[in-house]
This record gives sequence, C-alpha cells and structure tokens, in this order.
Amino acid sequence: MNAPLKQHLIDPEICIRCNTCEESCPIDAITHDDNNYVVNADICNYCMDCISPCPTGAIDNWRVVAAPYSLEEQLSWSDLPAQQELESASDGGAVEALEDDIDALLEEARKGLGGKPVAPPSASKPSVNLYNRGKPAMATVTGNFRLTHADADSDVRHMILDFGDQPFPVLEGQSIGVVPPGTDAEGKPHQVRLYSIASSRDGEKPNANNLALTVKREIGGVCSNYLCDLSRGAKVQVTGPFGATFLLPNDPAANICMICTGTGSAPFRGFTERRRRAMPNAPGRLTLFFGARRPEELPYFGPLQKVPEKLLGKHFCYSRVPGEARVYVQDRIRSEAAEVIALLNEEQTHIYICGLKGMESGVEEAFSDVCRAASMDWSELKASMRASGRYHVETY
Ligand code: FAD
Repeated sequence: MNAPLKQHLIDPEICIRCNTCEESCPIDAITHDDNNYVVNADICNYCMDCISPCPTGAIDNWRVVAAPYSLEEQLSWSDLPAQQELESASDGGAVEALEDDIDALLEEARKGLGGKPVAPPSASKPSVNLYNRGKPAMATVTGNFRLTHADADSDVRHMILDFGDQPFPVLEGQSIGVVPPGTDAEGKPHQVRLYSIASSRDGEKPNANNLALTVKREIGGVCSNYLCDLSRGAKVQVTGPFGATFLLPNDPAANICMICTGTGSAPFRGFTERRRRAMPNAPGRLTLFFGARRPEELPYFGPLQKVPEKLLGKHFCYSRVPGEARVYVQDRIRSEAAEVIALLNEEQTHIYICGLKGMESGVEEAFSDVCRAASMDWSELKASMRASGRYHVETY
C-alpha cells in the first residue's frame, strides 16, 4: 500500500469560480475547466498562498488519501468525496500525523505569517459556510429600492433579505452567496454570486433576522438583474455566510479608515451602523473616502449626509462633475495627507479597501506618496498592518 498523503482540494459546492485561487498560486498548481477549479497534487507544495484570498473558503479543504485524486476526477466532481477510511494497523499513526501536519500549516497561514491577511485580533468569531448550494437558506425579499438618483447612469439597489426562523448569523464585512435560478447557455445551473452584507450583525433594524445588500445592476449580468428585479415577498436561495478576515474590530479604540467606490460601500454601511448602535461614544474614529462619478451615482448619498461627522468623517470624491476637476479617492488621500499620516501613526488604525478590482493599486500609490513625504516606509508599514490584522482589501 502507498504511504498516505495529504491532498489539497477545492469544494465545488462552495466555490464561486472567481479565479482568485488560480491567480494567487505562485507555482501554477491550480487550474480549471468549465466545471471546476482543481489543485494538481503533483505540483501543490502547501505554501497556503491561496487560502486567505479565497472569498468563500472553498479552497480550504483537505483529505488524507492513499493515492491522490487525479485532475480528471476532481474536474468531474459536483461535491467533495468523504474522507477515505485509511485507519489500519500499518498506517493509522501516519494518517494522524498528516492531519496534524495540515492543521499546523493552516494555523500558520491563518496567523498571517508572511504578511497574509488576517482578521483584526478583537473581531468576533465569524460563522462561515452554514449553507451551500445543496442546502441553501431560503430568504424572503422584504425591501428593494433604488439608491442612485433617477437621473444616474447606474442602478444600485438596497435590498433586504429576511431569514424568518432559519439561523443565519453574520458579522459586518462578511458576504453571502446568491443562487440565481435557471441554467446557463450549456444547461448547467448558474454559479453562485457573492454580495457583501450592508447591515449590522443584529439586522437591518435591531434584533431582526434579516440583512441588507447593496446590489448594482450589471448590463447583461445574470444575478444582479435577477436580484434588482425581485419584488417584496420573492424567495431567494442564499449560501454562506462567507469571509473570515474582512471584519470589524470590537475594540472601541480602533480607528477605522474605509476607502471605497460604488457597491464597495456596502460593508462600510454595516461597520458604521455597528459602531453607532454598539458603541456610539467610542474613542476610535471612523473615516470614509468614498468615490463616485457624481453625487447622483453615489449609493446612500442622502442617508450619509445625515450621519454626524462626530461618528463618521466623510470625504466624498467625484470624478465626473461637469466643470469640476476629476477627483478620485487616491487624489483625496493625497490632499488629506495630514489626517492620513496622523491615522497611520496610530497603532490602533485599521485600513479597509473595498470596490472594483484595480482600485487597490491607485490607493496604495497614494499611501506610498503620503508616507514618503512624511519619511515613512509604506511597504513596511503595510506588511506590518496586514500581519497584525489591520489592513484589509476586498475587490471584485
Ligand atoms: P455575470 O452574469 O456574472 O456577468 C459578469 C459581467 O459580464 C457583467 O458585468 C456583465 O455586464 C457581463 N456580461 C455577462 N453576459 C453578458 C452579455 N451577454 N453581454 C454583455 N455583457 C455580459 N456586487 C454588488 O453589486 N454588490 C456587492 O456588495 C458585491 N459584493 C461582492 C463581494 C465579493 C467578495 C465578490 C467576489 C463579489 C461581489 N460583488 C458584488 C460582485 C457580484 O458577485 C457579481 O459578480 C456581480 O453582481 C455581477 O454578477 P452578474 O451575475 O450580474 O453578472
């Protein structure tokens, strides 16, 4: 009999096929076809670089096997096989040792060694993967209204999903999966899409078993159009919750610096509401840099005007107001350098970036510039902030 080995596998039932794992694997051990994302056991060296970036945790699956599952086998799966029975007089100890080995490696990855993202130390422990495609939660739409102005080009909606008597515990910063009904052009069920939770852990209104989403209608998009067109009373299949690092610190002294565009504002609505409800007099400051083309395109523009500056410092940046210079979030970070440096100099400051893929690089360049002007080293600071659970990016 072959010596058992630990095999890294991806759960096809939870995976949303976002390609993040394939992009983050430094040795091309991850590949995919139209059906699944899979890990090549001949190449994978357990570096764990793919674990934290995965938005659902589908990547975090392991089996001790006598012989590795081939790529062909993995590509054909619709769910993960159970752990094989390997216990025997000859290999029992080896199996246990390998399982301990995997646990140790994962623990290391979760601690963020090497600068990988980790949760803020004072964050509450999140529940993840309570529901999947095979066993989704059934939510009822209890609200769906447009957030952007009637004249705006973009249709962004505030949606409320109620879970009735099904337990669906969430934390601010987590996401849920939505299963769009129907099939794609090849007759396969549509993939699950993720949406950030835009409400506080205790519901859209305190003590309700519901949550809010901020959904942008994408032209030709399957799930966003499905959601945006739903009426009150409609039922939605939901998976998750997902996300174990992009979380709000419970420490009232934590300064939270939030940088977003568009629907990237969703988790920050949840963060702000949590602070307002749970610790309105917290000494830590909340600061928001929020970019949009015009005020009319900015989700939550009206409600945000009413949030007092004492609770939330706001920097709105507009890139398409006729007759005005284009201002992006990175420009505003530069022009508010004194405030930004003061925040970066405090050990209890956490940075969160959320929005479209690609915004991170512009924001980072701005941080790098303001730090250079203040004789600080941004790359060093960022690495230490990441390692201590104080630098978080979620872009899509
Ligand atoms: P898809 O059908 O997946 O299409 C993707 C793109 O291709 C669309 O832009 C669409 O315009 C284009 N396209 C597809 N078919 C056609 C066609 N036939 N012709 C022309 N163009 C086409 N989104 C939010 O709105 N709010 C959130 O809070 C949010 N949070 C997220 C959090 C995470 C962690 C992640 C990973 C993603 C998040 N997203 C969020 C994005 C969301 O998951 C979806 O990707 C988004 O809603 C688009 O999905 P879709 O099914 O509508 O588009």
